[in-house]
Amino acid sequence: MENGSAELEVPLLNESDSPRAETDPESQLEVPSDLGDDTPRNGGVLNDEPVFESLDYDPIFNIVSEKSTKSKQARRVYGYTGVTLAKWSITILIGVSVGLVACIIESSQEYLVTRKKNFTQRNISHGLVGTFLGFSSFSISLVLVASCLVLFWAPAAAGGGVTLVMAYLNGTDIPDFFRLRTLVSKIIGSICSISSGLLLGQEGPMVHIGAAIASLLTWMHGTFPNPKKVQSSSDSRSCCNNLRPKAFPFDFHNDKDRREFITAGTAAGLAAAFGAPIGGVLYSLEEASSFWSRKVMWRSLICCTFATMVLALINWWEFSTSLPGSMSFRGLQPVFIVRDLPFFVITSALTGILGAFVNTTHGWLDKLRPRSTHKLLRILEACVVAFISVTLMFVLPLHFGQCLPVPDEKTSSGTMDKDYWFKYTCPDENPNTGVAYYNDLATLFFSLPRQSMQELYQLSGQTKVDFTIQSLGIHSISVLIMFILAYGIATPGGIFMPAMLVGASFGAFIGRVLEAMFPSGNIQPGLHALVGTASMLGGVFRASISLVVIMVEGTGGIDFILPIIVGIVVSNWVAHHVHHAGAYESDLERLGGVYFLQTEPPHQLLAMSASDLMSYNVICFHEIVSVAEVVEVLRSTRHNGFPVLRHSQLDNSSGGGKFVGLILRQQLLLLLEQRAFMEVDSTILSNPRAPKFSPCDKQLSKEMQFLDHAMRVYHHYHYPHRRYLSSRPEALNDLDVDEIMQAISSTNTKPDTPVEGDIRTVSDTPKKVLALDLRPFMNRAPITVRRECSAQRVYHIFRTLGLRHLCVTDSHNRVIGIITRKDIAMAQKQAYVSKSRKSFQH
Ligand code: ATP
Repeated sequence: MENGSAELEVPLLNESDSPRAETDPESQLEVPSDLGDDTPRNGGVLNDEPVFESLDYDPIFNIVSEKSTKSKQARRVYGYTGVTLAKWSITILIGVSVGLVACIIESSQEYLVTRKKNFTQRNISHGLVGTFLGFSSFSISLVLVASCLVLFWAPAAAGGGVTLVMAYLNGTDIPDFFRLRTLVSKIIGSICSISSGLLLGQEGPMVHIGAAIASLLTWMHGTFPNPKKVQSSSDSRSCCNNLRPKAFPFDFHNDKDRREFITAGTAAGLAAAFGAPIGGVLYSLEEASSFWSRKVMWRSLICCTFATMVLALINWWEFSTSLPGSMSFRGLQPVFIVRDLPFFVITSALTGILGAFVNTTHGWLDKLRPRSTHKLLRILEACVVAFISVTLMFVLPLHFGQCLPVPDEKTSSGTMDKDYWFKYTCPDENPNTGVAYYNDLATLFFSLPRQSMQELYQLSGQTKVDFTIQSLGIHSISVLIMFILAYGIATPGGIFMPAMLVGASFGAFIGRVLEAMFPSGNIQPGLHALVGTASMLGGVFRASISLVVIMVEGTGGIDFILPIIVGIVVSNWVAHHVHHAGAYESDLERLGGVYFLQTEPPHQLLAMSASDLMSYNVICFHEIVSVAEVVEVLRSTRHNGFPVLRHSQLDNSSGGGKFVGLILRQQLLLLLEQRAFMEVDSTILSNPRAPKFSPCDKQLSKEMQFLDHAMRVYHHYHYPHRRYLSSRPEALNDLDVDEIMQAISSTNTKPDTPVEGDIRTVSDTPKKVLALDLRPFMNRAPITVRRECSAQRVYHIFRTLGLRHLCVTDSHNRVIGIITRKDIAMAQKQAYVSKSRKSFQH
């Protein structure tokens, strides 16, 4: 250990040379006060706070990959490698799998809800209390299953998951988010929580499920040995001997390719949930993904089409209707007349305010909710919310529900199952007249949200009263309460469907009120329910085009496009004045450890340059570096990227050098893990002329190719969370660093005989040091900027290329600073804080 400790940090410039952040006294607010100092921030120091690391969307160009790419190109058959075919096959497979999972969730949920409804109807005549207890204990058991799965087995499965999918696609690596156990928990948990009576939907979970399926399917190609077994090799010279991936014909394990598939999976998830393939693609473009291209659009469209097609096929097979998804409403009776538009503006504005109110109250409640470390409290919270929801469902219809005659099939929409109408405590069917009765409020509460929305959209004027004003008012208030309470508990479940139900119910209520106020206005509450749904989505999520398309696809035509657009535009505008951001953006702001780069940089960055954002005293390595130094640096910092320098005569005295590449922590960890050491003359470490790198000159060794491939797939394979650990000190414990250090001390006294072509052998000088040769693996083409580069430009470079590290160099190509994604995100945050402080002062 002592060997390397002396060379721990490689300062590039003397302290006096380091440029300091220039803080303009005139613009104190613009230039963030904590940017530009030379102390490493988050990630540089060792503490126990969870740190989400960034993804590398910028590919690594190194000697090994360049050579192997060239040899792959040479192996083309008629100019075709088969990669495109493999990619499309995986895309179709993702679509089909997402469609199947959507079908499983949909039918299980329908089965459980219908069972609960039938149980209530059968037993209610024997005693209300007994039925209530039976119903609530079943609901609570379902919630217990869902929350225990989340809290004890797969914490990443909590909630809807859309926010974290957005964070991932923006460049933040979320540990365990796409693991098989998370996927399984999400599927089972969603079925349980949605069927329990909690007001949650499957649309958000379907987005996460689609993304997780896509991520898992990209791993199918090739197998990899367990690195733990490799570690057991005690021979420090058996570099890569155990590392034998069986096959990796197609390499989709890099972050960039996975991002494409995950974007397509995300779109397919939403498409399957709503039965809206184009809406799914647009949603992915507008909300979920941060990087988009024509290729991604095609991939998403094909994926969505297959997902929806599978769902339609199964529905046709089982129910003889090919309407897929939970948002497929056809044959709506109300007719849109342009004259109604002013009324729609009123509905949209009021519903938009309600949507923004949901976001505000969620923010308040979030502060009061128990933290996920208090697992029992979180479970208790979920059960209490479920109990409150069930109590509201049972008690309110008793007191406020109206007994109405079940509509005649001829007069009713005809699209709804007769079983939809729920008798509850209403009188039995009159044997003389044959008229059966239903409790309107109980019907709304006990049915699937999709069924209730279908009926609410059918409300077409005074001639037919399926739900009274009082019931609609009480239903909308109570579902709003149930929605706010359930939004944020520790079970899987999304907020799309709840928002839609609240909007539909509230819209129908406003429609009925307007109808009562303007009896001759021919107002159709069904259309107000539709506008209310669109407006609630606009108010809560602030999306626009994708919502319009989802609604249009759901309602089966463009007849209602104008009211829907009015609803979304007005609600977005009104909601913005009540709460500054949509649900996902607000969640991203609250999430600790997630650094989200918005599409456009804040204006405040205009007055700043790269030197205001960068960290100084960058820790670098030389091309050939002693193992002791690497171990020491990895132990004492959490940085994930290190510039690689080449000795030059000029910098020899200060230990600096020219910037020639960038090496990642995960690459260094794998080199250590695989004992890819070489023994070199200790003088080489400080020699201006490093020995020539021979193995790459003629033929690239297989071991190196495997090692390079392993570095790329490292964190995606056997230990998907490994990367998360990689910047933690514990990761080094796995490597058995003590053994490495023993090897180092024994090497110092051991003479060695060089073996030709062995990557460990560089020279045969008698005094040896164990070292790593970073040259074959380092990224030889990392992007750099000069310190004068505008901060906005730096932001755009990060945002458009999906960068993780950006080195700042001087005119001699020497590293003077480093900027990471987190530095940019911190600057963005500071800018927004200063902006809100300013507007507050005004
Ligand atoms: P990430 O965790 O996002 O994958 P990282 O761990 O390499 O990347 P950060 O955690 O963003 O980097 O780094 C925290 C701070 O340390 C930042 O301010 C960054 O500028 C600084 N930093 C990063 N790498 C180095 C380095 N090699 N030497 C000195 N400072 C660094």
